[in-house]
Amino acid sequence: MSAPNKPNTATTARSSITNAMSVDVEDYFQVAAFEDHIPFSKWNNWPCRVEANTDRLLAIFDQYNIHATFFTLGWVAQRFPALIQRIVAGGHEVAGHSMNHVRIFRQTPKEFKEDIVTCKKIIEDISGQKVIGYRAPTYSINHETLWALDILFEAGYRYSSSIYPVYHDLYGMPDAPRFPYYPRQNIVPDKRGILEIPITTTLIGNRRIPCGGGGYFRLYPVALTRWAWNRVNSEGKPGVFYCHPWEFDPEQPRVPNLNWKTKIRHYLNLEQMEDRFKSMLVDYNWDRVDKVYKESL
Ligand SMILES: [Zn+2]
Repeated sequence: MSAPNKPNTATTARSSITNAMSVDVEDYFQVAAFEDHIPFSKWNNWPCRVEANTDRLLAIFDQYNIHATFFTLGWVAQRFPALIQRIVAGGHEVAGHSMNHVRIFRQTPKEFKEDIVTCKKIIEDISGQKVIGYRAPTYSINHETLWALDILFEAGYRYSSSIYPVYHDLYGMPDAPRFPYYPRQNIVPDKRGILEIPITTTLIGNRRIPCGGGGYFRLYPVALTRWAWNRVNSEGKPGVFYCHPWEFDPEQPRVPNLNWKTKIRHYLNLEQMEDRFKSMLVDYNWDRVDKVYKESL
């Protein structure tokens, strides 16, 4: 077990760069990999654990005096408005993660617009905070759904953190830039458009290695994530880390009949997540996404 209260000074000097910390606020039964097992119509059959698990994360951030961005489903905000208020009271940023976690390529532009406008309004009304950030469900912005970035900008969002510039069977845009950029600035006349803040990767040769969190963080030894993260910061760039409240909940109900890949991705090393995560909180500087990139927004 790692020692979360002690910085890892043995292997690396602490970088002065402040990285972006983010949480995708959704419950364990809402992930895309479970959609064939638990469709939207069956969500109410599963016990909600997102409120308690997000509170657990809020307590961890409070303990380490770190502020983060919480990309939140409208579905969660409607059911647990007091949770949204606790997130804001903790000094964190609230941002959008769609209403019901439908991947963008399954929506028409009209449906997408309605979804992100509704999500923004619900979170703003509950939180009293302006929502300018968005993360697509399952990183579902790719070459076919770039139109979504213009709709987000028109709706008042100012940044998106929705592109994972890697190869993956469920998502990814492997030829997209690794660091923040304005994907529509040459397409929308006279407008810079929305800022895209991709999830963090490092390079081994020309190969991109995902190291921004989630399943990869639970799969890799912590030393590997730290090595990758040090490389990113040594490029003079902040990284973007993401996690989910359900990753801190080894006791969550098990979904039956999953294939081996889904089972490994979802359940691997959940019991180690909290200690691993705390060691990252100690060894690097963190802040909310909107604060880390404020000069570009
Ligand atoms: Zn999600």
